Amino acid sequence: MKCTECRQSEMVSTREAYRFVESGLPNVVLLDTEIRTCPKCGARGAVIPDVEGLHRTLALAIISQPNPLVPHEVRFLRKWLGWSGVDFARHMGVTAETVSRWESADSGKPISATADRLLRVLVARGEPVASYPTEKLAEIEETPKSKRARYELHRGKRWEAESVAA
Ligand SMILES: [Zn+2]
Repeated sequence: MKCTECRQSEMVSTREAYRFVESGLPNVVLLDTEIRTCPKCGARGAVIPDVEGLHRTLALAIISQPNPLVPHEVRFLRKWLGWSGVDFARHMGVTAETVSRWESADSGKPISATADRLLRVLVARGEPVASYPTEKLAEIEETPKSKRARYELHRGKRWEAESVAA
């Protein structure tokens, strides 16, 4: 494969440990990774198969560790869920400024213990899509109205809820 930078030489492949800084996580090292280097201009690039699977593995490793989430982990998980800062704020029920503080290393205001748990649950559910019910939670009104819910056994097989205003 020709170097895409200088186009003057074939890339040379080696296998080595690669620090995956593109993840935004400082301590992720991928072992035995193919690195392509241009002998002419020195351009380097890692060949990372199944990046999606790698990201999923990283996300699950982060939520499985017992320490409070730190800012770069919060940012990684938020991006993995596919949310902008504003999306994330809406789902978590906080302001965008609060999200910025959670993701900033020097704000001195890390994510709260409760939000930490909620974020882990969202990631554990494993679907980086916007269909999670927290979308509805964001619409919860300040003053709760009492509601009556009816449940029906649909075709004698599956319980379904039908929410009705009291
Ligand atoms: Zn080159």
